[in-house]
Amino acid sequence: MKRAPPTSNRGWLLPSPTTVIGRLKKAFRKETAFSGREMSAFQCLVGTVLSARTRDANTAKASEQLFSFYPTAEKLAKAPLKRIKKLVKPAGFYKTKARYVKRLSQMLLHDYGGRVPDTMEELLKFPGVGRKVAGCVLVYAFRKPAIPVDVHVFRGSHRLGWSNAKTPEETEQELMRLIPKRDWIDVNNLLVLHGQNTCLPRNPKCGECVLNDICPSAFKKR
Ligand code: SF4
Repeated sequence: MKRAPPTSNRGWLLPSPTTVIGRLKKAFRKETAFSGREMSAFQCLVGTVLSARTRDANTAKASEQLFSFYPTAEKLAKAPLKRIKKLVKPAGFYKTKARYVKRLSQMLLHDYGGRVPDTMEELLKFPGVGRKVAGCVLVYAFRKPAIPVDVHVFRGSHRLGWSNAKTPEETEQELMRLIPKRDWIDVNNLLVLHGQNTCLPRNPKCGECVLNDICPSAFKKR
């Protein structure tokens, strides 16, 4: 069934998700050819739990340190908590995050035979896992459709006029209604790349943005 063009709740025309996604795919062709996210489902899950409320570089450092000693659920489940805390310290909130990743490794072994489940419902049962983390695991580990809303997706979708929701959870619901399901899998990666390179939190580079002719926030002072 053909979708009607998206409109804001005040009735004006919004940039079409298909156009936006198509243009961003073209703009970030090189980056999306190898996203750097190839890893086991377990490492994707743990890495995304570690990524909460910290910068990508800190997550990368903490994950690298942790996985160099404990690359599997079997190993991490048995690791001393004190040692895990030390390894994940660069990610911040390290005491809580260390407890989460040890506990979720134990749960994986005891309740799931060591395999990461591939449904939102099951993933949400793990400590430290909310809809954003679960969505990332579905998209990046299993290539299943989901729209994890992180800071970049939140900012980008608000600037494009796709959402005016106050929370990531409501934004996710609005995006799921607006964007065709076949495109969900690309939304996070593309808006993260766009947010890191062009649609920056401050001083977005509207002049060089491939969306500047259709974005309602283009060249607005902020
Ligand atoms: S035109 Fe500016 S505000 Fe709009 S998406 Fe591009 S960089 Fe962001």
